[in-house]
Amino acid sequence: MKKSFFLLSAFILLFASCSDVNEQISFTAMNTYMAVRSYGKGSSAKAANARIKEEIEKLENIISVTKEESDLYKINNSNLQTFTLQPDTAFLLEETKKIYEKTDGALNPALYPVIKEWGFTTENYKIPSEERIRELLSLTDFSKIEISKENLLLIKKTSGMQLDFGAVGKGYAGDLAVKILKESGIKSALLDFGGNIQVLGTKPDGKDWTVGIKNPWGGEPLAAVKLSDSCMITSGGYERFFIGEDGKRYIHIFDGKTGSPVENNLESVTIICKSGLYGDALSTSLFVMGLDKAVDFWRSSGRDFDFVIITKDKEIFYSKNLEDSLTLLFDFAARYPLE
Ligand code: AMP
Ligand code: MG
Repeated sequence: MKKSFFLLSAFILLFASCSDVNEQISFTAMNTYMAVRSYGKGSSAKAANARIKEEIEKLENIISVTKEESDLYKINNSNLQTFTLQPDTAFLLEETKKIYEKTDGALNPALYPVIKEWGFTTENYKIPSEERIRELLSLTDFSKIEISKENLLLIKKTSGMQLDFGAVGKGYAGDLAVKILKESGIKSALLDFGGNIQVLGTKPDGKDWTVGIKNPWGGEPLAAVKLSDSCMITSGGYERFFIGEDGKRYIHIFDGKTGSPVENNLESVTIICKSGLYGDALSTSLFVMGLDKAVDFWRSSGRDFDFVIITKDKEIFYSKNLEDSLTLLFDFAARYPLE
């Protein structure tokens, strides 16, 4: 009797531990497709997914550049110098300011007036005159903003300055989502926020998640990466660009030193690290830096992230630390593990 009771209890325990429900949700927010797959007990995963959607919609209402009630809309469309901010906006400004300094301006949320002039916000693309670019560049000194902590105030030092979080918003949204999942007791989840991948824990079977790095030239992924408790975020020139009348390709990632789309030998930069905000900021920043500076930056910043860089010559450069988790699926012209 005792033995069968023990067996029954063991069976119930085993069954309970295997019975995590797989819940999926997908929606459009921040101009992108977002999908969450999470595994949890009872209705916990479903409830967490619903909360994620709600919180991301709230975030979008705060940091969108087009929604009139957002903090960024107010900052961008008035000549006031002082604004009272929502905590998310203040946090993003503080964090991006640190990364702006650390990357020597490669990440610069104040480039918005320049990016707009080139038509990347409306898709009415044009190549502005050099004089116009110079004029707009004078508005892009991001060091000229101040955030006062106590009452979350932003002070702009240049009228006409405009900000956007296009380079970091999706990564930050991923961090918020992971926080909600953890608070909800979820131990295993996969997020795809417009190609930004963030995973919580491992797959329910205890194995790492396997995610693909997009092939910039189309077709199947050109590499697979094993991940747990981390994010993998890519910036690529192929994602958004236009061909100018001069036949050149102009991409959506900008160099704040020239006020023009980045022109270098890179096709994509993928960052693998713990924080979505940091990974998103760095994928854009390292793309702007170009190969040599990007690798120097990685070495001098304590290697607190991993990277995969694909060049236009079909070469791959990656941090050697990834060797055990990276599988190459493409016939690269050359492969360079770096340390
Ligand atoms: P991502 O796809 O994360 O690399 O972000 C690119 C988006 O960030 C662009 O569509 C622009 O809205 C904005 N952006 C472009 N260049 C920069 C830059 N150097 N610093 C900050 N934001 C940028
Ligand atoms: Mg980015």
